[in-house]
Amino acid sequence: MLEVTNLRAGYGAINVLWDVSLTVGQGQLTTIIGPNGAGKTTLLRAIMGLIPIGQGQVTLEGKVLNGMPTWEISKVSMAMIPEGRMIFRAMSIEENLIVGAFAPQHRARVKDNLERAYTMFPRLRERRRQLAGSLSGGEAQMLAMARGLMSEPKLLIIDEPSLGLAPVVVNELFEILARLKAEGRTIILVEQNTERAVGVADHVYLMQGGKVILSQKASEVALDHLHDLYFAR
Ligand code: ATP
Repeated sequence: MLEVTNLRAGYGAINVLWDVSLTVGQGQLTTIIGPNGAGKTTLLRAIMGLIPIGQGQVTLEGKVLNGMPTWEISKVSMAMIPEGRMIFRAMSIEENLIVGAFAPQHRARVKDNLERAYTMFPRLRERRRQLAGSLSGGEAQMLAMARGLMSEPKLLIIDEPSLGLAPVVVNELFEILARLKAEGRTIILVEQNTERAVGVADHVYLMQGGKVILSQKASEVALDHLHDLYFAR
């Protein structure tokens, strides 16, 4: 569904990504793992048009995305749930969700999509009138994911959802990721929680120093080998 080919991108004169290629299959959960500074978030930003592409190509279902502004990329149906969640703390949970359905074609289906979000995340239903600022870290992450789904994206990109969450909440989060996958959604998951990410994924990419140094089916990944590669410099 998404093809990234020989991508180079960075910030101004500083290049961060070096010939990165990856393929995300329809209905698959693809995880991108790697240490701090490996370039994972930079790759997501380049895919979403948030930074310019220096070289290479990004296509979604054959359509070239290079040079498209982010709002147009969102319209061709990708949603990114950024690291840090970026919810509107002074708005209610329901208002946050409605903001997720910003495009005219989604507004007509707000009611159905709200219902779907509340079925997937029952705690958000209970608290729908509360201010988003009152949510715990785990609940805020659920809200950010539910808001991303309000635009019915073909591809959902989630950046480090487990960051800063307590272990029990991380368990809940990975259960939700498994459910989204079981629904047939196409997902890119960036994570530092390697073992959990590999456990839920179909395909694994390991990045280091702005390059993909391993691409493997999740079922074939040997965690020990991954660990060695992860920490090798
Ligand atoms: P993390 O897990 O820490 O988010 P990451 O793999 O997502 O790591 P990136 O955030 O993509 O890594 O960072 C890759 C490199 O790009 C790092 O060397 C970082 O310092 C640099 N970088 C990130 N953002 C910027 C920016 N806005 N301007 C300049 N350099 C940046």
